[in-house]
Amino acid sequence: MVQKIFQTNAELKDWLSKQNSAIIFIPTMGGLHPGHQYLIQKAKEKKAKKNQIILVSIFINPLQFGKDEDYKKYPRNISKDAVLAFNAGADAIWAPDYVEVFPGGENSHFKIQVPQTLHNRLCGAEREGHFDGVATVIIRLIRIIRPEKLILGEKDWQQLIIIRKLFQELCIPIKIESYSTQRDQSGFAHSSRNAYLSDSEKVNAQSLPNALRAAKTEFEKEKIINLNKIASKIKENNLKIEYLKVVDPFSLKEKENLNGLCLLAAAVKCGSTRLIDHTFLMQRKPIIAIDGPAGAGKSTVTKAFAKKLGFIYLDTGAMYRAVTWLIINNSISPSDQAQINNNLRDLKLEFKNSSSGEQKILINNIDVTEKIRSPEVTSLVSEVAKQQYVRELLTKQQQVIGEDGGLVAEGRDIGTAVFPDADVKIFLTATPKERAKRRSIDLEKRGYEYSSIENLEKEIEERDKQDSERKIAPLKKAHDAVEICTDGMSIEEVLEELTYIFRSKIPEEVWATPNL
Ligand code: C5P
Repeated sequence: MVQKIFQTNAELKDWLSKQNSAIIFIPTMGGLHPGHQYLIQKAKEKKAKKNQIILVSIFINPLQFGKDEDYKKYPRNISKDAVLAFNAGADAIWAPDYVEVFPGGENSHFKIQVPQTLHNRLCGAEREGHFDGVATVIIRLIRIIRPEKLILGEKDWQQLIIIRKLFQELCIPIKIESYSTQRDQSGFAHSSRNAYLSDSEKVNAQSLPNALRAAKTEFEKEKIINLNKIASKIKENNLKIEYLKVVDPFSLKEKENLNGLCLLAAAVKCGSTRLIDHTFLMQRKPIIAIDGPAGAGKSTVTKAFAKKLGFIYLDTGAMYRAVTWLIINNSISPSDQAQINNNLRDLKLEFKNSSSGEQKILINNIDVTEKIRSPEVTSLVSEVAKQQYVRELLTKQQQVIGEDGGLVAEGRDIGTAVFPDADVKIFLTATPKERAKRRSIDLEKRGYEYSSIENLEKEIEERDKQDSERKIAPLKKAHDAVEICTDGMSIEEVLEELTYIFRSKIPEEVWATPNL
């Protein structure tokens, strides 16, 4: 593809209309560096899968600079930027001037006001109206370009989560992907503003990433964060701290404890240059909870997603089924609590991988992997699963398996009761008709007979009713879960959606595998 630089919207639109391809858009203010190049390279990797155009914009947005800020001296060198962008894999550059983005001036267009709860924290506390300016210009740019996907850096984390929220609230159907902060060999984060630093300032500024890195190392060993200690380290070289905080990465509120994903973020002044940096802290690897009604396709996608991430796959339904099998096998009535408790006292439930990589479930050393899928077990499992003793026992075992994280678990109550602090919560559904169809295929594959799809649909609805109406840990969508209705979706499409949701909750810096 010919590499093009466009200045006017008319030229850009004319060219785009001839491409007939979806656009991956990387908005920048120029002053390109390896951080931008990384975003372009990532876009290129994704592009290999589809016919898409990578468009990089260079527009120094006056609305996001305060009156005493560096708008006038911000690095401007389009030809140098173009070389860096094209070398990294950009197909075209769009470098509009002010009137192309704001014809008639900014006061003749709508402006976005970012909610104060997001704006006035971290960087926005000192930079009045900064994120309003960012959000306003993003809307202007995407209106002209209409991209399929937007790629942003995680270095400007606050900007990233504000734009995500903006798109979500305005129902803008553009996917946002983000990639990690890029650093030089000494760990110093690349930024356009580094160009302002003198050699000696650059040496001084190094205490910012050094202090954050040391804090992360200490956190990983001791599970503590000492902000005073970090602040003294940062100040060793005459840096002035604007803020240094541990916040929730999504609400940006200061954290009262260090549970879940935490963002340790700082802004400093080095001479007259303002620098920001951050690191993420997490006590364990991520946990993904996938809940939903019977037959929504949870098993297939949970298994595949765990494999993609290199995480443990936990099928909690199989645990309830195995206990049900034991109860049937021991001829106990599913409502006889005393007998059930007796029989489960020395319960040994294990997951093992077979030589072919298939997960097996063993109860008291008996392999019941296939047996637990029988219609008899299926028809009794909900009755067994509502018993308090059974739930307490299995929930505890599941929590032990997930202690260190690095787990994708499927069930009914994973996001609400087993791992209420899961980092990613999905509620996977499908219409009862679709679920009955899937169940019939599954039964046929396993060699079981069934009377009719209509009856399967009724059975599924009955099991949903029992699971959602029980007293303890009923089937329900967690308030912070993302719902996916899988009707008409292929397994690959569901996995793509899961990957997208995972990546929007877990920064690349925290968990990256080549498969994502
Ligand atoms: O997912 P699957 O169909 O194998 O689950 C079988 C049954 O196990 C469910 O209908 C439900 O009664 C029970 N279950 C549960 N809690 C979970 C997982 C499954 O109660 N976390």
